[in-house]
Amino acid sequence: MLQDIRNQFPILGVEVHGHPLVYFDNAATTQKPLAVIEALDGYYRSSNANIHRGAHHLAAAATEAYEGVRRQVQAFIGARHSHEIVFTRGTTESINLVASSFARRYFSGDGDEVIVSGMEHHSNIVPWQLAGATLRPVPFGDDGVLDLQAMERLFSARTRLVAICHASNTLGTVNPVADIVAMAHAHGVPVLVDGAQAVSHMKVDVQALGCDFYCFSGHKMYGPMGVGVMYGREELLNEMPPYQGGGEMISEVTFERTTYNELPFKFEAGTPSVGDVIGLGKAMDFMQGVGIENIGSHEADLLDYATRGLAALPGMRFFGCAPRKTAVLSFLVGDSHPYDVGTLLDQMGIAVRTGHHCTQPVMDRYGIPGTVRASFAVYNTRAEVDALVGALQRIMPMLQ
Ligand code: PLP
Repeated sequence: MLQDIRNQFPILGVEVHGHPLVYFDNAATTQKPLAVIEALDGYYRSSNANIHRGAHHLAAAATEAYEGVRRQVQAFIGARHSHEIVFTRGTTESINLVASSFARRYFSGDGDEVIVSGMEHHSNIVPWQLAGATLRPVPFGDDGVLDLQAMERLFSARTRLVAICHASNTLGTVNPVADIVAMAHAHGVPVLVDGAQAVSHMKVDVQALGCDFYCFSGHKMYGPMGVGVMYGREELLNEMPPYQGGGEMISEVTFERTTYNELPFKFEAGTPSVGDVIGLGKAMDFMQGVGIENIGSHEADLLDYATRGLAALPGMRFFGCAPRKTAVLSFLVGDSHPYDVGTLLDQMGIAVRTGHHCTQPVMDRYGIPGTVRASFAVYNTRAEVDALVGALQRIMPMLQ
């Protein structure tokens, strides 16, 4: 079964520095199965056309395929309507879209506050600063668990939104989103969820979570780069102004005045990445074919196995030990610099990420420059974890 899955990922057959590739950088981007690669190839070979406006056969076929994936995403995340699904370039663009448009509609320009968690990726921090908000970060404990009592105290008459990650890319912590939404809604405050690190690991149901916005990237869930999703509740999206102006988002244009198209097109100016959207559809098919629960339980096994394996080595320090975690292991080897560890592991064919992982406030919280991060996906194996443990054992003397 696992070998069948691995066979679908051609890149897993490459060698790096004379070693078989061990790819543990999945939180940065996952590899792509053949179905996704072939869908991109097939689209450009036989059905490439611009969507929506054409009278010809290819345009109709491309439009139907593109809109079909919108309905697929709707089902995948349990949205009420397909027009609540807006295609973007990825999580970053999704959050920037909401920040810009939501601020223009709902910020007063006078002391607007957004509550974020202390473990946000920079792409769920900077867009709010650009929109003029003051950020109120929710602290977390040494284990990487958010302090919800402290969060409750952050709400004020100036709070406009809560923007929180479903899962942390650095600590792996899975935040209790449904509880956070209930708390925020009790204060009359909507919630945006950054789901970049959640959708590939667990079943997401936006109606069960109750959130108002949910953002994610295709490339972190076995899909192509260049495509992502912004889900927003219809009532809010109807109130919000367009983010970008251009083709497709309009109803009528004159030099005096423009009226806007209906949802979701109001938020999709210009030619979208049609082939990538079609590839995203195949990525969701792949995940559902394996079974999202099966993906989650396989990764949980790898995380547990790797945590035990690495903990047995001398001098290991772990960051993020929440009881509910995605398959992300952030660590330091004694006092050695994470970059040195990453470079030596690379020499043995093992790809990990090193640095602050676009979460500098997390590094400040622990007083460290960065971590080494190993993150797992459905195609990783216990044997690969053994390779990591063995490689760390071998490089330790070189790090003194
Ligand atoms: N949010 C989180 C939690 C992430 O891990 C990432 C990427 O690492 C992003 C947002 C940004 O995603 P993208 O670069 O695909 O827009």
